[in-house]
Amino acid sequence: MESASPQELKQTSQIEALFRHVGVLREGHFLLTSGLHSPTYWEKFRILQYPEHTGTLCTMIADRFRSDGPAVVVGPTTGGVILAFETARQLGIRGIFAEKDGDRRVLRRDFAIQSGEKVLVVDDVLTTGKSVMETLNAVRSMGGDVVGVGVMIDRSEVAPSFGTALFSCLRAPSLAYRPEDCPLCARGMALTKPGSS
Ligand SMILES: [Zn+2]
Repeated sequence: MESASPQELKQTSQIEALFRHVGVLREGHFLLTSGLHSPTYWEKFRILQYPEHTGTLCTMIADRFRSDGPAVVVGPTTGGVILAFETARQLGIRGIFAEKDGDRRVLRRDFAIQSGEKVLVVDDVLTTGKSVMETLNAVRSMGGDVVGVGVMIDRSEVAPSFGTALFSCLRAPSLAYRPEDCPLCARGMALTKPGSS
């Protein structure tokens, strides 16, 4: 693994301090959107409720991908709507979102992506990458040219492969278990289902 530069370390500690300050990280026994169980849950809306803090994170994502020339930003509902809006605002381009349709995602509301149009995909918390992958599939099925994926928090233990560049404002690998392997279930601890997407 590449070692981080002093600038990156400074940025990481500032982002960690911000997340601690607003209380994003909760501890307990949580059912994640991915279906996995975890002793930690990143309550993204603790951050997303503050336009100023959300703006700071979107600046990091926008700065990373600006030179790739995206024409539109797409995020999966629900948090991705906010991140797509703000990142697009900062880049001066369109921001749209992909909604659940069974086990896939689609662009509704007359949202369109032209064939060959450059697309940046954003999301709040990356765990298994399912929401991002569904969004990528929706974009690619319309002929969109994905320039990268930007997420607020990458909590995956092993980053999923999206076939494009992945940037996270904070890389924070966090334990997650399949229900059948969950030691918290084995201990009989009550499962919490946080606000779902
Ligand atoms: Zn469990």
